[in-house]
Amino acid sequence: ATPTALMVGTGRGAQLGILIRGPEVLEATRAVDIVVLDKTGTVTTGDMRLAEVVADGASEDDVRRVAATLESASEHPIARAIAAGTPTGTLTEFANEPGLGVTGAVDGQGAVIGRPAFLTARGLTISDTLADAVSAAEARGATPVVVGWSGRAHGVLVVADTVKESSAEAVRRLRALGLSPVLLTGDNERTARAVASEVGIADVRAGVLPADKVAFVRGLQERGRVVAMVGDGVNDAAALAQADLGIAMGTGTDVAREASDLTIVSGDLRVAADAVRLSRRTLAIIR
Ligand code: ADP
Ligand code: MG
Repeated sequence: ATPTALMVGTGRGAQLGILIRGPEVLEATRAVDIVVLDKTGTVTTGDMRLAEVVADGASEDDVRRVAATLESASEHPIARAIAAGTPTGTLTEFANEPGLGVTGAVDGQGAVIGRPAFLTARGLTISDTLADAVSAAEARGATPVVVGWSGRAHGVLVVADTVKESSAEAVRRLRALGLSPVLLTGDNERTARAVASEVGIADVRAGVLPADKVAFVRGLQERGRVVAMVGDGVNDAAALAQADLGIAMGTGTDVAREASDLTIVSGDLRVAADAVRLSRRTLAIIR
């Protein structure tokens, strides 16, 4: 491919709302044969809202306040939903565990929020009432997180976001290009399946930790696949860098953009299919 023709492709990319790291990226784009899609913020809006709070052994206000305080220092979409509009206490000793949750001290009292296994791994017990709230939320495709202190969980906060209007069409376009989409998420299996079926994806990998997202991409590559990964979060950065073609949502984090070859400015997943079509066409003209 000649540099001039590739630059033409880059310019056309800008018109489509795609920022391309360098002209050579088009070569990788052309060869892609599988597309791995992050769920939250990529297939869904990532605009999570707090839908429900269930308290057990503490007041609902305390559950909200401790949860919001812990999440006030996190950038995760779940954190923003929980922290929004709720008054917070004093947070010290904050630590973020990507793909799991957050720990810290709220007004000097140690507390934990995150997926249920994150709390049980720290020796906090989860009552039947709270476990039932977790199951019920998952069954309807929402994301439950558990908050606890003093050796036990005290509340479940259910957050939910919506599938982007453009996602189902994007999946159809990717398929039309011969690309098989896989949904990859740290979220629970049932929530992930609900989203996948809404947009027409059959292949789902759920409950995947950030490090295992990279391993999944590498595993595909070892089997000879040329992998595009689309993501937006801090937790996607390593997988975006590992992929043959990393595509960041412009609506996502700086870290994801910096790790990627392409950025879709609008966050519209249909543009990922446009990018593949553009690169195939550009290189077909050149050759
Ligand atoms: P995704 O792949 O959908 O972006 P993540 O890997 O970021 O998901 O998170 C996976 C799971 O870890 C979440 O569904 C949640 O249960 C838990 N989790 C991650 N970050 C937080 C947080 N800041 N607060 C509470 N729970 C969290
Ligand atoms: Mg995401």
